[in-house]
Amino acid sequence: MNSTVEQPETFTFQAEVNQVLSLVINSLYSHKEIFLRELVSNASDALDKIRFRALTEHDVMGEDKELKVQLIPDETGQTLTIRDNGVGMTREELIKNLGTIAHSGSTAFVKALQEKKEGDDLQLIGQFGVGFYSSYLVADTVTVQSRAPLAEEAWQWTSEGSGSFSIEPCELEGRGTAITLHLKDEHKEFNTEWKLRELVRKFSDYVSFPIELEVTRTREEPKDESDPEGPKEKVTEVKFEQINNASALWKRKKEDIEDEQYNEFYKHLSHDWNAPLARTHFSIEGRAMFTGLLFVPEKAPFDMFSSMERRGIRLFVKRVFIMEECKELIPEYLRFLRGVVDSDDLPLNVSRELLQEDQMVRFIKNQLVKKTLDLLQELADDQPETYEKFWSAFGMVLKEGIHTDEKNRKKLAKLLRCHSTTQEKLTSLDDYIERMPEGQSSIYYITGDNPATLAKSPHLETLAKKGYEVVMFTDPIDEWVVMSLTEYQDKKLVSVSKGDLELEEPDEEAKKETEAQAKDFKGFTEAVAEVLGDRVEKVEISKRLADSPCCLVVPEHGMHAHLERLLKQSNRDVPQARRIFEINAKHPLILTVRQLHKARSDKLSDWVELLYAQAQILEGSPVSDPGAFAQRLSELMNAAVQPEDLVVDESVVEEEVVEETAAEETETSETAEEESDAES
Ligand code: ADP
Repeated sequence: MNSTVEQPETFTFQAEVNQVLSLVINSLYSHKEIFLRELVSNASDALDKIRFRALTEHDVMGEDKELKVQLIPDETGQTLTIRDNGVGMTREELIKNLGTIAHSGSTAFVKALQEKKEGDDLQLIGQFGVGFYSSYLVADTVTVQSRAPLAEEAWQWTSEGSGSFSIEPCELEGRGTAITLHLKDEHKEFNTEWKLRELVRKFSDYVSFPIELEVTRTREEPKDESDPEGPKEKVTEVKFEQINNASALWKRKKEDIEDEQYNEFYKHLSHDWNAPLARTHFSIEGRAMFTGLLFVPEKAPFDMFSSMERRGIRLFVKRVFIMEECKELIPEYLRFLRGVVDSDDLPLNVSRELLQEDQMVRFIKNQLVKKTLDLLQELADDQPETYEKFWSAFGMVLKEGIHTDEKNRKKLAKLLRCHSTTQEKLTSLDDYIERMPEGQSSIYYITGDNPATLAKSPHLETLAKKGYEVVMFTDPIDEWVVMSLTEYQDKKLVSVSKGDLELEEPDEEAKKETEAQAKDFKGFTEAVAEVLGDRVEKVEISKRLADSPCCLVVPEHGMHAHLERLLKQSNRDVPQARRIFEINAKHPLILTVRQLHKARSDKLSDWVELLYAQAQILEGSPVSDPGAFAQRLSELMNAAVQPEDLVVDESVVEEEVVEETAAEETETSETAEEESDAES
């Protein structure tokens, strides 16, 4: 396509755009004025981008160097134009940016949109951001004229916001974008001076570029300049007045900024509809001088776990915007943060490569982590309910840090919240320690898919009897957490499904008893081991079982069954880890089987196989040979029925016979009828 095309070309919106449009219009009808914040925000982003390009492309700005946003109301035409001299858009960019949804989480968003329930709208919008389409809250037709830097031609995008848009060449002076809203009759006030002043002060005061409003002023001037006191005439003048503060919010003093201003700044930055959950604003002086303003959002975005997730820190150098999504500044486990870092020391032409190696950047990163963890700890201490909200949105991400950030592991572990066998709500490890009864010296934990199933695990039995609480780790990431977090507050973290579970230092007597028991059971455990062969590492008398006959335990340095399952689910090659088969020497069933071994050793293998399968099920693992398991179980069930169980209760049988005969009779008569029909 080229500029010789005179006729407007029509395009249809991507299906998802229509959905977003109707969602925006239906859910935000009582917050119409936010359209201005969104459009000014887009304009300010476009200005940031041209300023950044100018750092390396010297001619890109030409003569037009004063970056600004202009608001041009037109009362007669009932329009409002938002004009910027930013990066603008080419024809292709207009089609792509304003005709499709290019957010990284768009697929997930659209899916959520389709499955949404009544009343979810605001929340969905909050997680996605509203952007350009909010124009249709107040306008019935929107025209976007745009010229990319140094481009010869400008292009115009027009749409009534329903189904399609058109593209055609247009006249536009200079670089950048002019968005003209043809206001609906009922929203005429959005092109009045007072309304625009009010909205800019409320939503966009902190935007670091001037926002100018076109105003018409009439004044009286002497008709004859040489006679200042003579007859006057009215002179009308059209001019631009700056209506925002335009100083970078993060550079202002904390005391001078109101919560509302911080929140609006966050919304501008993140396109989030909700206010942030927490923030920290600081200046660091020392090895490096920089200012940081970081926000913790209230809700997780859709694409939190995809590796594409953008890390939302914007880097400025001496107030000049350098780059968005500056992932070099924060570790991956803090990717939920949004905010601004403004450095006084980095060079303006700083590149990604340089950022990766720079000492100063490393220093800034460490400080950002410190400030964020302090903020979260403060939240946890002073506003536990808000912290709970944070944890349910971002806990899974923060936990990654326990595995990856050794230096801050202790602090991160303090922020950890987890399920436990005795608590209804999530608990911290500090609170767990606080509740530990006398004699308990370690923190016990178990890993698995969900707390309800884990709570019934045989591995917990002896601990429960002793009144020991057990932490239940149920997120996939927890397997990596426990690999790294081996100690907390000088207490070992001990897995209850691994190795030897020594709940307390055994005294001489206990040791002797254990030895005697092992000797007593030697013949039996050896026979069991022979049946199970190399499927198990060894067979042992258990110290952790109380009510169950047996269980499977992972050797001290082996991989938890839960982790093994997770890896298999993600199609990873996992070597078959051999377990320790533990038996409960006090359990009646084990005593019976032991007796059976003495009396009928030929029967032992079937029983052992069944016990082993049962232990596999309780571990959450699949039974290795379900066919053989089912057959053995059926045979056993059959054999378990005693002759006296089969003595028939005559009274019940009589009733059944009567019913059956009645049924037969009706059937016979129907058949007879059918036959006679066939004959005739
Ligand atoms: P978002 O800003 O969240 O990406 P929008 O729907 O608001 O989503 O805008 C879509 C895209 O259109 C932007 O990402 C940007 O590339 C482009 N855009 C919007 N407004 C402007 C503008 N004033 N100047 C240049 N590009 C713009």
